[in-house]
Amino acid sequence: MAEGTKAGLSVMWKGGVILEYRDLHIAFDPIIESTKFTHVFVSHAHFDHSRGLSFQGVSRFTTPETKDLIMASRKWNIEKVETLLIGDKVGFDDLEVQAFNSGHILGSCLFRLCTPEGTFVYTGDLNFSKTLITEPAEVAPCDILVIEATFGSPQFSFPSRDVIYKELVNWAIECILEGQVPAFRADAIGNSQELISIFNRFTEIPIVTEPSVTRINRVYESYGFRLNYVPSRSLQGAALLASRKCILIAPKNVDLSYNPTFRTALASGLSMVFGGSGERFPLSDHADFPHLLEYVASVKPKIVYTYHGGRLNETLARLIERRLGIEAKPLPAEPYRV
Ligand SMILES: [Zn+2]
Ligand SMILES: [Zn+2]
Repeated sequence: MAEGTKAGLSVMWKGGVILEYRDLHIAFDPIIESTKFTHVFVSHAHFDHSRGLSFQGVSRFTTPETKDLIMASRKWNIEKVETLLIGDKVGFDDLEVQAFNSGHILGSCLFRLCTPEGTFVYTGDLNFSKTLITEPAEVAPCDILVIEATFGSPQFSFPSRDVIYKELVNWAIECILEGQVPAFRADAIGNSQELISIFNRFTEIPIVTEPSVTRINRVYESYGFRLNYVPSRSLQGAALLASRKCILIAPKNVDLSYNPTFRTALASGLSMVFGGSGERFPLSDHADFPHLLEYVASVKPKIVYTYHGGRLNETLARLIERRLGIEAKPLPAEPYRV
């Protein structure tokens, strides 16, 4: 390598996961804008990851599904965002980025970056189980793995999907038999469509969805998902809610206490940590701790960086080292060089 050029890959946290290679500053899911960025890659449509798509004057990449989900939920100018299908590659000089399925929500992907100096994977949010609406994350072998640590502690071990599905359905039927409307609070993108699919598959109970969930349902349908639901702001929706013979699905942040006929439940992996009053179901679109370890073991990286888990970054890193014998640490704010 010529003198003066920067050798190798540097990975760090700086308002996003930033990878530096020669003159390139590639930002994965950045939340803070920087004029240094040469390229922005967005893993999926959830708000804590997708803000970078709104940055102007930089080349931005994501999947077509993510672009459509954003257009359905936010008023951002993302016309110029370039799209990559799962499996597609894009190259800059001798560096190549490829998108793989990350199993989290519609269009979610992890990115692998290959250079002559080594390979790097950024997972975004990851799910390693099969659900009614997602396939497990693909294993993308690499040297440096940056993995999310949302549930990076042994206390997070979710029951199998079958068990959760059964409990959800039983609880909903019980509510209806007792004259109440089972009202789920769930992430509008992902968990809500999984809930609809569960009830469509195993019951004939009508589903009513609040507007922000309905908008996302339409994007899923445009990608071939068959979802049976009625918008809450329609005559049929109002009649169903009044009859109390239906299920309501609303976004997580909505307060449903205004209607005494609603019996609420939170459907989210985070329901294991908080959730307020009401029932809780750990329907998670993230990998739990055993699955995070299994994913790292399958990827076989030389080093792992944990991020997106707050204090659990430290916990997960320590346990990856102890249980898998692979070097691991929280993603530093300073660059790491290979
Ligand atoms: Zn997410
Ligand atoms: Zn996230």
